[in-house]
Amino acid sequence: MEEKLQGVVLNSVNYGENDKILSVFTLEKGIISAKIKGVKKAGAKLKFASEPFCFAEFIVLSSADKKSVINASLIDSFYPIREDIKRYFAGGSVLEFIKKFAKDSIVSANAFTLLITALKELAYSDENPESVLTRFFINALSVVGYGLNISANCPKCGKPLDIKPFFEYNIGAFRCEDCKADNGAREINFLTLSAMNKAKKGEPITEREGVFCLRLIDYFLKQKIETEIISLKELIR
Ligand SMILES: [Zn+2]
Repeated sequence: MEEKLQGVVLNSVNYGENDKILSVFTLEKGIISAKIKGVKKAGAKLKFASEPFCFAEFIVLSSADKKSVINASLIDSFYPIREDIKRYFAGGSVLEFIKKFAKDSIVSANAFTLLITALKELAYSDENPESVLTRFFINALSVVGYGLNISANCPKCGKPLDIKPFFEYNIGAFRCEDCKADNGAREINFLTLSAMNKAKKGEPITEREGVFCLRLIDYFLKQKIETEIISLKELIR
C-alpha cells in the first residue's frame, strides 16, 4: 500500500552500506519508522529527506512488517536551525521531546502544530531560542498530559507568589512557603516564575529568563517523568 504522509524527520540511523532508517513524526499516523534507500550515496536524490528537521510530504510504501520511503517532496528544511549552535540544540530538544512523548502511532494534530510552529520560529524569527523552547515545552507538556500549573498566585491560599515561590515537581505547580509540601518542594527564583507566566501567555522572554525556565523544566522532566533531553542539557549548560 502506498500512502502520502506529511511529517518531520526526528532522527535517522544508518542501515547497511547506503540506507537509513528514519523516525518520522507524521500528521496522519503519529511516529513511523521507515527505511529510505541509497541516501548515503553521493548526489542521492532523496538525501534531504533523511536529515533531521526535514518537513516533507513522504510517499511511504507499507508491507506487512515494514515501511519504506520511496519518494518525498520538501515542504521546509528549516535550514537556519543548523547554522547556529543554540538554535540547533533548541531544535534538537523539540525533536527529542516529540520522539519521547508521541509514542508510536499516537496521532496528535496539536503536537504536530506545536512542533512545526517551534521549528519555524527557531529558523526564521529573531526571538531567542531559549524563549521559543520555553513556550514549546509549556504547551507541549500540557498536550502530553504533564501540564504545569503556572500562576502568579499560590493555587492553595491565593497569596501572590512574589517573595519566595516554591515549585513542587510532584504536581507540577508553584506554591507559597506556607502551603508547600514537606517533600519535593524546591525554592525557585521569583524571576523564573514571572518568566514562566510570561511564556505561558505567549510573550517572548529574555535569554537569561529562558535559561532559568529551561533549567526548571529540565528538573521537572527528570524528577517527575524520569527522563532527560540531551539537547536541552547542552543548551542550558
Ligand atoms: Zn499558599
